[in-house]
Amino acid sequence: MTFDLILRNARIADRPDGPVDIGIRGGRFEAIEINLPKGDAPDQNLNGRLLVPGFAETHIHLDKSCLLGRCNCANGTLAEVISEVSRAKRDFTEEDVYARASQTLEKAIKHGTNRMRTHVEVDPRIGLTSFRALKKLKQDYAWAIDLQLCVFPQEGLLDDPGCEDVLLQAMREGADLLGGVPYIDKDSNGQITRIFGIAQEFGVDIDFHLDFDLDPTRSDYEEVCRMTEATGWGGRVAIGHATKLSAMPPADFEAAAKRLADAGVAVTVLPATDLFLTGRDHDHNVPRGVTSAHKLRALGVNANISTNNVLNPFTPFGDVSLIRMINLYANVLQVGAIDDLAGCLDLVTSAPATLLNLKHYGIAVGNPADLVVLDCETKAEAVCEIAQPLFGFKNGIRTFIRPAASLLKPH
Ligand SMILES: [Zn+2]
Repeated sequence: MTFDLILRNARIADRPDGPVDIGIRGGRFEAIEINLPKGDAPDQNLNGRLLVPGFAETHIHLDKSCLLGRCNCANGTLAEVISEVSRAKRDFTEEDVYARASQTLEKAIKHGTNRMRTHVEVDPRIGLTSFRALKKLKQDYAWAIDLQLCVFPQEGLLDDPGCEDVLLQAMREGADLLGGVPYIDKDSNGQITRIFGIAQEFGVDIDFHLDFDLDPTRSDYEEVCRMTEATGWGGRVAIGHATKLSAMPPADFEAAAKRLADAGVAVTVLPATDLFLTGRDHDHNVPRGVTSAHKLRALGVNANISTNNVLNPFTPFGDVSLIRMINLYANVLQVGAIDDLAGCLDLVTSAPATLLNLKHYGIAVGNPADLVVLDCETKAEAVCEIAQPLFGFKNGIRTFIRPAASLLKPH
């Protein structure tokens, strides 16, 4: 058997029999075995390094990334940052959105992300400007990353006349799915009902921004679970932030987890933004506001970790590295046991792949040869050391290289 390339001595996460050789042909994994025969194929020795199928980002805002310098935020409240970005949006053009979004997307690719769901704001002010820019981006970068476009009304749906028309037009022009922000409208249940209605009409998944404060007494997740069950949309609905869960005592947290798991509603925790924006009414003992995704997973919820905002008033930080994000998460959530640290890597790989309903994700014979090589040997090392992605493939084509740093010792 001949291959286009053999990657030798590669460690695959959760495979107990040690390093293997991986034969790639025609853009697919053709063979995964110990000691593949040499043949004519070029090969590369990974020296026991860890191979993952690539990181999957479920929740990012490419259209409003890289806005530092265009906004002024004095208090850092959610209302203030939404209004500042709303003001900045007035100057967006397709070219401007494309330029900022491609800058962010390229960083993500170089950090080993090869699947992504970006949220895209649509409303009567911005219209379809950002959506059309990202639609072009999706095509232009398909060689390196699968991009889903999730259109949503950041400034409200029911209380923003004309917004639904723009949202529907984006769906007709090929948006992959839609989201909502129920807490912006006065009638949050009304927005949830309408979003489900549109999702049913177009047969698409739903990804909400939900429960973005630390008051656990009133939550929208119950209504989302009820509507998910009523529509038969289990496995097709996600909620992002869910910071209220971080404020619940254990018994309430477990009950909420059971409800979400039973309904088939996934949860995306966004540590960078949740840390930056929640707890602003405290001047000491500031709560962290980061919901425990690994505990949710242990309770049967499909939970994952994602980036959300990059270099804007919602989050003025970010290199779009999911390996750095999972390290931040594990540190903040005080994850210490080796098995738990290893499990954290699943929160940016297999868990988001499930949320995105990806078919053929994973290093297995017959799947597309999508992979990223990390500069480490184990999953726990990857999380603890922020192991750098050294190179990656998409459909058997090398998409980036990030050579390991080396010391220049004096002779
Ligand atoms: Zn978001």
